[in-house]
Amino acid sequence: MNVKASPQKVWFDGVMTDLADARIPLLTHSLFYGSAVFEGIRCYSTSKGPAIFRLEEHIHHLFHSAKVMGMVPPYTEAEIVRAIIDVVKQNNFDQCYIRPIFFYGEKMDLIPLGAPLHIAIAAWQWGKYLAGETVAVKVSPYIRLHPHSSEMSAKISGNYANSILALLNAKKDGFDKALFLDADDCIAEGAGENIFFVEGKSLHTPTDRAILPGITRASVMQIATDLGYKVVERDISINEMPRFSEVFFTGTAAEVNAIGKINGHVFNDMHEGPVVREIKSVYQRAVHGEDKRYLAWLYPVL
Ligand code: PMP
Repeated sequence: MNVKASPQKVWFDGVMTDLADARIPLLTHSLFYGSAVFEGIRCYSTSKGPAIFRLEEHIHHLFHSAKVMGMVPPYTEAEIVRAIIDVVKQNNFDQCYIRPIFFYGEKMDLIPLGAPLHIAIAAWQWGKYLAGETVAVKVSPYIRLHPHSSEMSAKISGNYANSILALLNAKKDGFDKALFLDADDCIAEGAGENIFFVEGKSLHTPTDRAILPGITRASVMQIATDLGYKVVERDISINEMPRFSEVFFTGTAAEVNAIGKINGHVFNDMHEGPVVREIKSVYQRAVHGEDKRYLAWLYPVL
Protein backbone atom coordinates (compact mmCIF):
# COMPACT_ATOMS: atom_id res chain seq x y z
CA MET A 1 0.00 0.00 0.00
CA ASN A 2 1.47 3.31 -1.02
CA VAL A 3 -0.40 5.98 0.91
CA LYS A 4 1.42 8.69 -1.05
CA ALA A 5 -0.20 7.48 -4.27
CA SER A 6 -3.58 8.99 -3.51
CA PRO A 7 -4.12 12.45 -2.03
CA GLN A 8 -6.21 11.91 1.05
CA LYS A 9 -8.03 13.69 3.76
CA VAL A 10 -7.50 12.56 7.31
CA TRP A 11 -9.24 13.62 10.49
CA PHE A 12 -6.73 14.82 13.06
CA ASP A 13 -7.81 16.08 16.49
CA GLY A 14 -11.14 17.23 15.20
CA VAL A 15 -9.95 18.83 11.95
CA MET A 16 -10.12 17.41 8.44
CA THR A 17 -6.70 17.90 6.88
CA ASP A 18 -4.48 16.61 4.06
CA LEU A 19 -2.54 13.50 4.93
CA ALA A 20 0.72 15.29 4.11
CA ASP A 21 -0.07 17.96 6.71
CA ALA A 22 -0.89 15.53 9.51
CA ARG A 23 2.52 15.55 11.22
CA ILE A 24 3.51 14.55 14.71
CA PRO A 25 6.43 15.67 16.92
CA LEU A 26 9.48 13.43 17.19
CA LEU A 27 9.25 13.02 20.95
CA THR A 28 5.86 11.35 20.80
CA HIS A 29 5.23 8.94 23.67
CA SER A 30 3.40 6.36 21.56
CA LEU A 31 6.18 6.32 18.93
CA PHE A 32 8.81 5.41 21.50
CA TYR A 33 6.82 3.13 23.78
CA GLY A 34 4.01 1.61 21.73
CA SER A 35 1.27 3.16 23.83
CA ALA A 36 -1.14 3.90 20.98
CA VAL A 37 -4.40 2.01 20.51
CA PHE A 38 -6.03 1.60 17.15
CA GLU A 39 -8.57 -0.31 15.10
CA GLY A 40 -8.69 -1.59 11.51
CA ILE A 41 -12.09 -1.33 9.86
CA ARG A 42 -13.34 -1.98 6.33
CA CYS A 43 -15.86 -0.07 4.30
CA TYR A 44 -17.50 -2.02 1.43
CA SER A 45 -19.49 -1.07 -1.61
CA THR A 46 -23.14 -2.10 -1.53
CA SER A 47 -26.04 -1.48 -3.88
CA LYS A 48 -27.08 1.35 -1.54
CA GLY A 49 -23.64 2.99 -1.48
CA PRO A 50 -20.64 2.45 0.79
CA ALA A 51 -21.23 0.84 4.18
CA ILE A 52 -18.85 0.21 7.07
CA PHE A 53 -18.71 -3.28 8.50
CA ARG A 54 -19.60 -3.45 12.21
CA LEU A 55 -18.48 0.12 12.75
CA GLU A 56 -20.05 0.62 16.17
CA GLU A 57 -18.54 -2.62 17.52
CA HIS A 58 -15.10 -1.54 16.28
CA ILE A 59 -15.42 1.86 17.94
CA HIS A 60 -16.62 0.25 21.14
CA HIS A 61 -13.54 -1.95 21.04
CA LEU A 62 -11.34 1.10 20.39
CA PHE A 63 -12.72 2.78 23.50
CA HIS A 64 -12.10 -0.41 25.47
CA SER A 65 -8.45 -0.38 24.32
CA ALA A 66 -8.19 3.33 25.18
CA LYS A 67 -9.47 2.70 28.69
CA VAL A 68 -6.93 -0.09 29.17
CA MET A 69 -4.20 2.42 28.18
CA GLY A 70 -5.45 5.00 30.69
CA MET A 71 -6.77 7.32 27.99
CA VAL A 72 -9.71 9.63 28.52
CA PRO A 73 -10.90 10.52 25.00
CA PRO A 74 -12.46 13.97 24.66
CA TYR A 75 -15.00 12.54 22.19
CA THR A 76 -17.87 10.11 22.56
CA GLU A 77 -18.08 6.85 20.61
CA ALA A 78 -20.86 8.42 18.52
CA GLU A 79 -18.63 11.38 17.65
CA ILE A 80 -15.82 9.09 16.47
CA VAL A 81 -18.34 7.09 14.41
CA ARG A 82 -19.43 10.35 12.78
CA ALA A 83 -15.83 11.44 12.16
CA ILE A 84 -15.13 8.13 10.41
CA ILE A 85 -18.15 8.55 8.17
CA ASP A 86 -16.89 12.06 7.32
CA VAL A 87 -13.43 10.74 6.38
CA VAL A 88 -14.91 8.16 4.00
CA LYS A 89 -17.18 10.80 2.45
CA GLN A 90 -14.46 13.45 2.14
CA ASN A 91 -12.27 10.98 0.25
CA ASN A 92 -15.11 9.81 -1.98
CA PHE A 93 -14.23 6.22 -1.27
CA ASP A 94 -16.62 3.56 -2.31
CA GLN A 95 -14.59 0.87 -0.52
CA CYS A 96 -11.68 1.45 1.81
CA TYR A 97 -9.76 0.44 4.89
CA ILE A 98 -10.06 2.77 7.89
CA ARG A 99 -7.55 3.31 10.68
CA PRO A 100 -8.55 5.31 13.74
CA ILE A 101 -5.71 5.71 16.25
CA PHE A 102 -5.54 7.24 19.75
CA PHE A 103 -2.01 8.08 20.80
CA TYR A 104 -0.11 9.90 23.50
CA GLY A 105 1.81 12.92 22.27
CA GLU A 106 4.88 14.75 23.53
CA LYS A 107 6.10 13.30 26.80
CA MET A 108 9.16 11.15 27.37
CA ASP A 109 8.41 9.77 30.85
CA LEU A 110 7.23 6.20 30.54
CA ILE A 111 4.09 6.97 32.49
CA PRO A 112 1.79 8.68 29.99
CA LEU A 113 -0.41 10.38 32.56
CA GLY A 114 -0.62 14.05 31.68
CA ALA A 115 0.60 13.54 28.10
CA PRO A 116 -1.58 15.11 25.40
CA LEU A 117 -3.94 12.61 23.80
CA HIS A 118 -4.25 12.78 20.02
CA ILE A 119 -6.83 11.14 17.82
CA ALA A 120 -6.45 10.58 14.10
CA ILE A 121 -8.47 8.76 11.46
CA ALA A 122 -6.94 7.78 8.12
CA ALA A 123 -8.46 5.76 5.29
CA TRP A 124 -7.12 4.34 2.07
CA GLN A 125 -8.08 1.97 -0.67
CA TRP A 126 -6.78 -1.46 0.18
CA GLY A 127 -7.80 -4.52 -1.79
CA LYS A 128 -7.10 -8.10 -0.86
CA TYR A 129 -4.62 -8.23 2.00
CA LEU A 130 -3.25 -11.73 1.59
CA ALA A 131 -1.88 -12.66 -1.83
CA GLY A 132 -2.78 -15.94 -3.53
CA GLU A 133 -5.46 -18.55 -2.96
CA THR A 134 -3.89 -19.86 0.24
CA VAL A 135 -1.06 -18.78 2.51
CA ALA A 136 1.88 -20.74 3.90
CA VAL A 137 2.18 -20.29 7.65
CA LYS A 138 5.09 -20.90 9.97
CA VAL A 139 4.61 -21.67 13.65
CA SER A 140 6.53 -18.89 15.33
CA PRO A 141 9.48 -19.56 17.63
CA TYR A 142 8.12 -16.60 19.61
CA ILE A 143 5.10 -17.42 21.73
CA ARG A 144 2.09 -15.08 21.81
CA LEU A 145 2.40 -12.47 24.53
CA HIS A 146 1.20 -14.07 27.73
CA PRO A 147 -2.24 -12.74 28.71
CA HIS A 148 -0.70 -11.72 32.02
CA SER A 149 2.08 -9.80 30.22
CA SER A 150 -0.20 -7.40 28.42
CA GLU A 151 -3.90 -6.83 27.86
CA MET A 152 -4.47 -9.06 24.87
CA SER A 153 -8.11 -8.08 24.38
CA ALA A 154 -6.94 -4.53 23.60
CA LYS A 155 -5.46 -3.43 20.28
CA ILE A 156 -2.35 -1.79 21.72
CA SER A 157 0.34 -0.86 19.21
CA GLY A 158 3.09 -2.21 21.50
CA ASN A 159 1.54 -5.69 21.34
CA TYR A 160 2.43 -5.70 17.64
CA ALA A 161 6.19 -5.91 18.28
CA ASN A 162 5.51 -9.57 19.11
CA SER A 163 3.64 -9.96 15.79
CA ILE A 164 6.35 -8.21 13.78
CA LEU A 165 9.11 -10.44 15.15
CA ALA A 166 7.05 -13.52 14.25
CA LEU A 167 6.40 -12.23 10.71
CA LEU A 168 10.04 -11.34 10.07
CA ASN A 169 11.02 -14.81 11.20
CA ALA A 170 8.39 -16.50 9.01
CA LYS A 171 9.38 -14.45 5.93
CA LYS A 172 13.06 -15.27 6.43
CA ASP A 173 12.14 -18.96 6.12
CA GLY A 174 10.02 -18.43 2.99
CA PHE A 175 6.57 -18.45 4.62
CA ASP A 176 3.87 -15.82 4.10
CA LYS A 177 2.49 -15.59 7.58
CA ALA A 178 3.11 -16.59 11.20
CA LEU A 179 1.10 -18.58 13.72
CA PHE A 180 1.56 -18.16 17.45
CA LEU A 181 1.35 -20.80 20.12
CA ASP A 182 0.62 -19.58 23.63
CA ALA A 183 2.54 -20.24 26.83
CA ASP A 184 0.56 -23.49 27.31
CA ASP A 185 1.63 -24.76 23.85
CA CYS A 186 -1.88 -24.27 22.48
CA ILE A 187 -2.52 -22.56 19.17
CA ALA A 188 -3.34 -18.88 19.76
CA GLU A 189 -3.66 -16.76 16.61
CA GLY A 190 -1.84 -15.30 13.63
CA ALA A 191 0.20 -12.10 13.77
CA GLY A 192 -2.93 -10.11 12.92
CA GLU A 193 -5.58 -12.77 12.36
CA ASN A 194 -7.67 -15.32 14.22
CA ILE A 195 -7.67 -18.95 13.08
CA PHE A 196 -10.27 -21.69 12.48
CA PHE A 197 -9.84 -25.43 11.81
CA VAL A 198 -12.36 -27.57 9.94
CA GLU A 199 -13.25 -31.13 10.91
CA GLY A 200 -16.35 -32.42 9.11
CA LYS A 201 -19.26 -30.18 10.07
CA SER A 202 -17.36 -28.67 13.02
CA LEU A 203 -15.18 -25.59 13.21
CA HIS A 204 -12.62 -25.43 15.97
CA THR A 205 -11.07 -22.17 17.12
CA PRO A 206 -8.88 -21.24 20.10
CA THR A 207 -10.59 -19.83 23.19
CA ASP A 208 -10.24 -16.12 23.84
CA ARG A 209 -7.72 -16.68 26.64
CA ALA A 210 -4.58 -15.47 24.84
CA ILE A 211 -5.87 -13.84 21.66
CA LEU A 212 -7.45 -10.70 20.36
CA PRO A 213 -10.97 -12.07 19.79
CA GLY A 214 -11.70 -10.31 16.52
CA ILE A 215 -14.94 -8.96 15.16
CA THR A 216 -14.46 -11.05 12.00
CA ARG A 217 -14.05 -14.13 14.21
CA ALA A 218 -17.39 -13.38 15.92
CA SER A 219 -19.03 -12.76 12.52
CA VAL A 220 -17.68 -16.00 11.06
CA MET A 221 -18.84 -17.91 14.13
CA GLN A 222 -22.34 -16.56 13.54
CA ILE A 223 -22.25 -17.32 9.81
CA ALA A 224 -20.93 -20.84 10.37
CA THR A 225 -23.61 -21.54 12.99
CA ASP A 226 -26.27 -20.29 10.56
CA LEU A 227 -24.82 -22.63 7.91
CA GLY A 228 -25.26 -25.58 10.27
CA TYR A 229 -21.69 -25.94 11.49
CA LYS A 230 -20.93 -26.63 15.12
CA VAL A 231 -18.44 -24.04 16.38
CA VAL A 232 -16.19 -25.22 19.20
CA GLU A 233 -13.90 -22.89 21.17
CA ARG A 234 -11.23 -25.01 22.80
CA ASP A 235 -7.51 -25.56 23.34
CA ILE A 236 -5.99 -26.86 20.10
CA SER A 237 -2.58 -28.52 19.86
CA ILE A 238 -0.32 -28.28 16.83
CA ASN A 239 -0.15 -32.11 16.90
CA GLU A 240 -3.83 -32.25 15.92
CA MET A 241 -3.26 -30.97 12.37
CA PRO A 242 -3.88 -34.34 10.67
CA ARG A 243 -7.54 -34.33 11.87
CA PHE A 244 -8.36 -31.12 10.05
CA SER A 245 -9.27 -30.95 6.36
CA GLU A 246 -9.06 -27.15 6.05
CA VAL A 247 -7.76 -24.20 8.03
CA PHE A 248 -8.36 -20.50 7.60
CA PHE A 249 -7.52 -17.08 8.98
CA THR A 250 -10.07 -14.38 9.75
CA GLY A 251 -9.54 -10.67 10.29
CA THR A 252 -10.68 -7.31 9.00
CA ALA A 253 -7.72 -7.06 6.64
CA ALA A 254 -7.44 -10.80 5.82
CA GLU A 255 -11.25 -11.30 5.70
CA VAL A 256 -11.64 -15.12 5.31
CA ASN A 257 -8.46 -16.62 3.87
CA ALA A 258 -7.51 -20.27 3.46
CA ILE A 259 -4.23 -21.56 4.87
CA GLY A 260 -2.44 -23.97 2.52
CA LYS A 261 0.11 -25.24 4.98
CA ILE A 262 1.32 -24.91 8.53
CA ASN A 263 5.03 -25.71 8.70
CA GLY A 264 5.28 -28.92 6.62
CA HIS A 265 1.64 -29.97 7.01
CA VAL A 266 -0.33 -29.29 3.81
CA PHE A 267 -4.12 -28.81 3.77
CA ASN A 268 -6.25 -29.61 0.73
CA ASP A 269 -3.26 -29.70 -1.65
CA MET A 270 -2.58 -25.99 -0.95
CA HIS A 271 -5.97 -25.05 -2.40
CA GLU A 272 -8.98 -23.35 -0.86
CA GLY A 273 -11.33 -26.12 0.30
CA PRO A 274 -15.14 -26.30 0.04
CA VAL A 275 -15.87 -25.23 3.62
CA VAL A 276 -13.68 -22.12 3.42
CA ARG A 277 -15.22 -21.32 0.03
CA GLU A 278 -18.74 -21.58 1.46
CA ILE A 279 -18.03 -19.44 4.54
CA LYS A 280 -16.03 -16.92 2.53
CA SER A 281 -18.82 -16.54 0.02
CA VAL A 282 -21.46 -15.89 2.70
CA TYR A 283 -19.06 -13.45 4.41
CA GLN A 284 -18.49 -11.59 1.13
CA ARG A 285 -22.22 -11.39 0.48
CA ALA A 286 -22.78 -10.15 4.05
CA VAL A 287 -20.18 -7.36 3.84
CA HIS A 288 -21.59 -6.20 0.50
CA GLY A 289 -25.14 -6.06 1.87
CA GLU A 290 -26.36 -8.98 -0.23
CA ASP A 291 -27.58 -11.15 2.64
CA LYS A 292 -30.60 -9.85 4.54
CA ARG A 293 -29.67 -11.77 7.67
CA TYR A 294 -26.59 -9.65 8.22
CA LEU A 295 -27.73 -6.19 7.15
CA ALA A 296 -27.53 -4.96 10.74
CA TRP A 297 -23.74 -5.40 10.51
CA LEU A 298 -23.50 -2.59 7.97
CA TYR A 299 -23.36 1.09 8.85
CA PRO A 300 -24.27 3.18 5.82
CA VAL A 301 -22.01 6.08 4.82
CA LEU A 302 -24.63 8.82 4.61
N1 PMP B 1 -5.78 -10.92 16.18
C1 PMP B 1 -4.92 -9.90 16.02
C2 PMP B 1 -3.63 -9.94 16.76
C3 PMP B 1 -5.23 -8.82 15.17
O1 PMP B 1 -4.37 -7.82 15.01
C4 PMP B 1 -6.47 -8.84 14.48
C5 PMP B 1 -6.81 -7.72 13.54
N2 PMP B 1 -7.34 -6.64 14.25
C6 PMP B 1 -7.33 -9.91 14.67
C7 PMP B 1 -6.97 -10.93 15.53
C8 PMP B 1 -8.66 -9.95 13.98
O2 PMP B 1 -9.51 -8.96 14.50
P1 PMP B 1 -10.70 -8.34 13.63
O3 PMP B 1 -11.46 -9.48 13.07
O4 PMP B 1 -11.48 -7.52 14.62
O5 PMP B 1 -10.05 -7.51 12.58
